[in-house]
Amino acid sequence: MRVLIIEDDPTIAANLYDFLETRGHTVDAAGDGVTGLHLAVTQPFDAIVLDLGLPGMDGNTLCRKLREEARVDTPVLMLTARDTLDDKLAGFEHGADDYLVKPFALREVEARLLALHKRRTGRTTARALQVGDLTLDPGTLAIQFSGTQIRLPRKCIQLLETLMTHAGNVVSRAELENSVWGEAQETSDTLRSHMHVLRRALRTAGGYDPIETIHAIGYRLLAGDGRRSSR
Ligand code: CA
Repeated sequence: MRVLIIEDDPTIAANLYDFLETRGHTVDAAGDGVTGLHLAVTQPFDAIVLDLGLPGMDGNTLCRKLREEARVDTPVLMLTARDTLDDKLAGFEHGADDYLVKPFALREVEARLLALHKRRTGRTTARALQVGDLTLDPGTLAIQFSGTQIRLPRKCIQLLETLMTHAGNVVSRAELENSVWGEAQETSDTLRSHMHVLRRALRTAGGYDPIETIHAIGYRLLAGDGRRSSR
């Protein structure tokens, strides 16, 4: 893989750089957001490791510019020192695909990057899914709800894809976590925060939320019209 590291801490950057290069990847690095954004826009990368706290332009701003202005969809793994739900949510809303909280294991970084890359390259031939007012094209990752185009972080798209594949049926939290992260998560925060972003985006676009919470079990995407008066 060709990986871009955008990190201002020289020790962390050097550790990441050396590890990924030793593992056979081609690595570029930038120590600030402006340089990082320039590299990310002008050169092809398979994945980007992006520190949230950067001088000049922070990780969230960089990610938003990358997605919304430059229209670059290279998978982004966000590194954050601040383990709060708010920061994670902000990262996802700005287009990060996954995150790791510092300190992290270098192998974990590589595993996440490989998973992001594989997911991106593996979904180019599948056909579009449709449930009620919702359509999702797994090739382009384009989502429409009630005729409105929605942009979502990749993990939220995967959640939606899993729910759409099982439309009308309850999907347990463990099943959802497995389908998106490859394993059940230690706490329910990760799934919950992604569901929150997904449902809010749906509600904003279509005027209602077609996902039902099944208390203590999981979630269900309502099949057919799916319009509900509550929630
Ligand atoms: Ca930093």
